[in-house]
Amino acid sequence: MTPEQIAQSFAHELIAHRDKLRGRAEDAQKTHQAFQRVSQEISEHETAHKKQVATVLGEWDSAGAKEFEKKSTRLGHDFQVTATAGTNGAKIVADMAGSISGAHTATERLATSYTNEAKGLLNTGLNLSGAGARGGILHALGQVEALGARYAKESGGHLKKVRAELVEAAKELRALEKEVKHDGVAEKPRGKKHHEPAKRRRRDHDKPRHANTNGLRNGHVPASRLSSVGDGEKMHKAAAEQFRRMDAAAKKDGITLHVNSGYRTYAEQKHLWDLYQSGQGNLAARPGTSTHGIGLSADINIPDQKTFNWLRQHADEYGFVNDVPSEKWHWTYTR
Ligand SMILES: [Zn+2]
Repeated sequence: MTPEQIAQSFAHELIAHRDKLRGRAEDAQKTHQAFQRVSQEISEHETAHKKQVATVLGEWDSAGAKEFEKKSTRLGHDFQVTATAGTNGAKIVADMAGSISGAHTATERLATSYTNEAKGLLNTGLNLSGAGARGGILHALGQVEALGARYAKESGGHLKKVRAELVEAAKELRALEKEVKHDGVAEKPRGKKHHEPAKRRRRDHDKPRHANTNGLRNGHVPASRLSSVGDGEKMHKAAAEQFRRMDAAAKKDGITLHVNSGYRTYAEQKHLWDLYQSGQGNLAARPGTSTHGIGLSADINIPDQKTFNWLRQHADEYGFVNDVPSEKWHWTYTR
């Protein structure tokens, strides 16, 4: 209920009781004045309330929801972080959305109870007759005016609380992002391996190496930067090299790792995205944002629990993590 509706509802109440005020000119005038004070207070409050709502919603819309969504998506994909960090980011966004709608509901409920209470007071005051009638009306009007102030204060409090929570959520998200970066699961310094002597590089050959994605455009990776992982699929060279080592180790344990989908061109990702958007396909990232598009992710065939358990136990030795918790087949190279 908007403040305008509250004021209107009061007017209706007073009109309904007009007959009872007939012949009591002074009371009618006092009631009229009190009503004007209440409605003025309500309309002043409405302006302040609207301003506060606009500020909160403005913060939420610009620096808020979209930015948070962007950040949590980035945390989940581009930075190739752990599943936990991505989940935490998404949770912060969800909590904020819940808090905003919670405050909205609370304010609505407050407006309703305020109106009902005020109606009750007016009815009681106006229904009194005889010696008490005069005082009854004035008393009721005083209480209604006091109610108006209480309403303004309480509903303003809800907004203040949301703003504080918004600031807190932004802080949490920034901290999460920082933590993720410091853990080294996120972006690594680019091109570092070029400065290492050739000898050392050769010696470290079978250790997971950082995948240099310098100059790569998502979905447009040249063939020279890709390498086969079997099953007709390719990955970024550094990732493919580690995948083949991982597959060789798995084979010793009687497991063969088949890749259903490795590097995807922009056109291939767009096809999957269109299917997803029309409700016919699996969850797919927007073209140009998938880690498949830079050859770092592989959708590994998981025919049984044994295969999944093996990956869970050993994949990180080769630099692979299951960074989409809802897709146990999606493994991303994070070195
Ligand atoms: Zn995938």
